[in-house]
Amino acid sequence: MLTNDQLAQWDRENFFHASTHLAQHARGETPTRVITGGKGCHIEDRDGRKLLDAFAGLYCVNAGYGRPEIADAIAEQARELAYYHAYVGHGTEASITLAKMVLDRAPAHMSKVYFGLSGSDANETNIKLIWYYNNILGRPEKKKIISRWRGYHGSGLMTGSLTGLELFHNKFDLPLAQVLHTEAPYYYRRDDLNQTEAQFTQHCVDALEAMIEREGADTIAAFIGEPVLGTGGIVPPPEGYWEAIQEVLKKHDILLVADEVVTGFGRLGSMFGSEHYGMTPDLITIAKGLTSAYAPLSGSIVSDKMWKVLEQGTDENGPIGHGWTYSAHPIGAAAGVANLKLLDDLNLIANAGETGAYLNAAMHDALGDHPNVGQIRGEGMLCAVELVEDRETRRYFDPSAKVGATVAAALFADGVIGRAMPQGDILGFAPPFCLSRDEADEIVAKTVKAIKSAGL
Ligand code: PMP
Repeated sequence: MLTNDQLAQWDRENFFHASTHLAQHARGETPTRVITGGKGCHIEDRDGRKLLDAFAGLYCVNAGYGRPEIADAIAEQARELAYYHAYVGHGTEASITLAKMVLDRAPAHMSKVYFGLSGSDANETNIKLIWYYNNILGRPEKKKIISRWRGYHGSGLMTGSLTGLELFHNKFDLPLAQVLHTEAPYYYRRDDLNQTEAQFTQHCVDALEAMIEREGADTIAAFIGEPVLGTGGIVPPPEGYWEAIQEVLKKHDILLVADEVVTGFGRLGSMFGSEHYGMTPDLITIAKGLTSAYAPLSGSIVSDKMWKVLEQGTDENGPIGHGWTYSAHPIGAAAGVANLKLLDDLNLIANAGETGAYLNAAMHDALGDHPNVGQIRGEGMLCAVELVEDRETRRYFDPSAKVGATVAAALFADGVIGRAMPQGDILGFAPPFCLSRDEADEIVAKTVKAIKSAGL
């Protein structure tokens, strides 16, 4: 058996990690963490440490770790038929069944689902479909996409552009020219402290209207947003936000993409965030929760309205020039079928709503009055604790102090994985849906300790 030191050396010498400080890691200044197993809400590393994973991997292992029902479905599919493609009408029982299960759960006005592999590629698909749609409708100028600052939509060329976090743009020559960013619906960080939530919503709407006016509605194809901002800080929308934004989009014939990579399949305690907030999107992006990350699979769910135009396009131009080798990969599809069935059988979405509300309430009780806690916010099985230097003025800590990362590291040392969100000192939690109240209590108690241990 390889020693941990050997693995760490090979890691430093060969492995280009995602979202990692490359130089520090290669120099061995950041640890190599080798994860070996998982059960329920816990993972285990190679040193035998058991950790409560309060971020479900990257908010994706929604059904929890170590589910034999999903593992068996994957193994059976791999034995039977590990691969066949989805081009020119091909499919497998798993992919066809999963498409039906997705549409049965999606809002009623949705029509079809295209399967990809990651949230990023699903959003790339969405943007291509939007451009195709407007070309078929004879409006080739209507192509720009509006996203929000602090939105997260992936890290490809187009999707990294849509992402509204500077880290994903800097030195990559992004964002691309077709992408515009508007106000983040981040009430806590409003400029005018006297604004009510409803007034702040109006402020976001006014900013969007002004952008559309400035650019010309005939140049703007779509607006993309997560029902609840995720990676940008776990920020639920202010009162009336989606209703008001949708009114503007409708007025200017601008499509809406609901990026439900995090919220899809139950994280808010509802099947979709669209349903939760009364959104009527033209496209819905799904990924993570579709398979609970047991295999890579994503999807673009297309509305009736768009589907009709896509069909017209292929009647005029031939087969759609879009597809991956691994579209609707049978192993991912088998994982998806087993996962969605498990969510139903174990009533896990209801638990996400109930235990998520318990977690949020307990976090409020424990930390609501702490002088360095600016805001505790969440929805369903999402919770964030925003740390500030001064609660009255909402003043940020000096970023070089890395307060959020320090607290997350202390929490990790105490056996709980939370996530220091990439912008601001925000500690994020997004546990698996099978979280128990005892586990929620442990997350809260250890968060309190971690904050104290950072000297706050
Ligand atoms: N959209 C949202 C809302 C996400 O949270 C993410 C990933 N965190 C993505 C898209 C991109 O998904 P992936 O990392 O699978 O490409």
